[in-house]
Amino acid sequence: CGIVGYVGPNDTVEVLLNGLRRLEYRGYDSAGVAVVDTNGSLSVRKRSGKLARLEDLLEASPLDASGTGIGHTRWATHGGPTDVNAHPHLGDEGKLAVIHNGIVENFAQLRSEVESAGVELLSETDTEVVAALLGLEVARQGDLETAFRAVVARLHGTFTLLAMHRDEPGKVLAARHHSPLVIGLGDGENFLGSDVAAFVSFTKRAVAVEEDSIAIITPAEVRVTDFSGNTVEFEEFEVEWDA
Ligand code: GLU
Repeated sequence: CGIVGYVGPNDTVEVLLNGLRRLEYRGYDSAGVAVVDTNGSLSVRKRSGKLARLEDLLEASPLDASGTGIGHTRWATHGGPTDVNAHPHLGDEGKLAVIHNGIVENFAQLRSEVESAGVELLSETDTEVVAALLGLEVARQGDLETAFRAVVARLHGTFTLLAMHRDEPGKVLAARHHSPLVIGLGDGENFLGSDVAAFVSFTKRAVAVEEDSIAIITPAEVRVTDFSGNTVEFEEFEVEWDA
């Protein structure tokens, strides 16, 4: 139900948790984060229940994040509110992570496809099928952005979707279709959110991403394209927020 993404030099886990706390008002039943570690692998911490449970887990089992991460609060639609069903979900043998708000209507058909390709799914969610499909597509295409575009084109339903891959650190991709997505513009860092609350502690410069767009953020650059890959111009606005 809430989404946050971050690329930049600051404490990634703290930025993600700050965003998730500010998004708590939307309601949720589980929470989780994924980061690229300083040793180049991808790590996930996720739990059903309140954000405090995720914070406890992170305290007991801290992450050594390198500056690329995504965070999620879930409102279960496919599969109950369990630790395993919480997001992020992994693909490409644990090398990529995906979070998702919304519903993938054609997930059953896509699930048979990824299962026939030999992927073993752990959860009951529609979202893990997307992570698996993205993994297969990355293996085929070699490049995350091309693979992401190919997968997004195949999804029916509603989604704000974020993805990152350990082999392309410093980059988070996002897509929206009938579900909200905003970009936060920083100085040497950038943010993604389901609303501006996700990053308002860090920047007041934002971009409302148009319906059916893909956003790509790195610490130095923000790009927005349509689903076919054509660059889309965007306009910045100033977030008005008293807190
Ligand atoms: N459909 C997804 C799930 O049940 C995402 C739910 C959400 O929007 O948080 O896991």
